[in-house]
Amino acid sequence: MSLNLTPVSEARDFLLSEMRPTSDVEQRGLLFCANCVLATDLIAPINVPPSDNSAMDGYALRAADAAVFSRLPVTQTIYAGHSGRALQSGEAARIFTGASIPENADAVVMQENCEEHNGSLQVSTAVVQRDNIRPRGQDIEAGSLVIARGTRLNAQHLGLAASLGMAELPVYKPLRVAVLSTGDELLEPGEAASPHQIYNSNRYLLSSLLTQLGVDVIDAGIVPDNLQATEQCLSELSKKADIVLSSGGVSVGDADFVKTGVESLGTLDFWKLAMKPGKPLAYGRINQTPFFGLPGNPVSVFATFAVIVRPCLLRMQGVSACVTPKAIPVRAGFVWSKAGTREEYLRAKLQTNHENKTEVVIYENQSSGVLSSVAWADGFAVIPAGSTVNPGEFVDFMPFDGIL
Ligand code: AMP
Ligand code: MG
Repeated sequence: MSLNLTPVSEARDFLLSEMRPTSDVEQRGLLFCANCVLATDLIAPINVPPSDNSAMDGYALRAADAAVFSRLPVTQTIYAGHSGRALQSGEAARIFTGASIPENADAVVMQENCEEHNGSLQVSTAVVQRDNIRPRGQDIEAGSLVIARGTRLNAQHLGLAASLGMAELPVYKPLRVAVLSTGDELLEPGEAASPHQIYNSNRYLLSSLLTQLGVDVIDAGIVPDNLQATEQCLSELSKKADIVLSSGGVSVGDADFVKTGVESLGTLDFWKLAMKPGKPLAYGRINQTPFFGLPGNPVSVFATFAVIVRPCLLRMQGVSACVTPKAIPVRAGFVWSKAGTREEYLRAKLQTNHENKTEVVIYENQSSGVLSSVAWADGFAVIPAGSTVNPGEFVDFMPFDGIL
């Protein structure tokens, strides 16, 4: 690897250490908490379930009575949501799934193992105490830690919070992330194009990635390739956003004004990442607001966002767990014969091969100008610098599910 290239993990560790987690907290209705980050530990205020209840449709009774009496009178019916009376010795209660167990009952026999005639119950199985009873607090015990502060809330967490009766949760306010696309060649979809112009993909790619992340997007559209417009836009955005992201204009071409603009307004580090696609990455601060200058190429934008920017945003948003994307070893169903000087993020997909085994295959055109490869793929096959891959060898597969 050339000496002036920085490994991805090294750049990311440094950048993560630069990110200051937000401390702005708000109360949010539970329906609006998906993808938000919990700002305090959620401690269970109640037991779930709140009382012992039946796991089956059947009969509640005392296990000892089932061994002694051949028939038990069925003296009440208890539906879910309703309370029953205490059982007297030798009695059974008709009971339905989710209904509270009446006092003095210590087991439920499922209806398939019973016969009821004229209000009299015959049990055709051995009954053991606690059979088919879901005990109070089985899922969650009152006072226990249910969801830790710093957890990014998913559907399962919200279901769990609802089961505890929480109508709102304290979450960190979503970051305001500004996005600008640089390039005189760019047009917005819907506009009439000439052959030397291209449509702005990055705006839509980044806005959508950010929306899925749960942050608020400040969309600055296209900024032309001139220093004054670039500086003005960056300066304005740095005042209203928590972080500014740009695409394009960070290589060494004559029309690359982002670097110069940031340098004149604040501070700038320029990274040459040992990563393909996605070598140039600028990081700096404008009026103390962090700034990332992503490459122009949409495939590089996608890759650098996934492996560098997203972890930084999660850290700023208050996520306390590991924020770096995870990869799992999967057998390769492809050949990669040319060892690179940078870590390669090949656009890849899992498939089942003819031996019914899962393998990872790659898109045939891995050029960084081919955005179709990203749309086709469902993850990256990550190939370390200096490595080749033969079919059947293990490669690291980084699913997009975990990074989007
Ligand atoms: P740059 O770093 O500005 O030289 O851009 C590198 C490449 O990415 C060029 O081919 C640009 O035309 C292309 N590019 C830059 N920004 C965008 C964008 N927003 N959408 C699509 N392609 C872009
Ligand atoms: Mg450009």
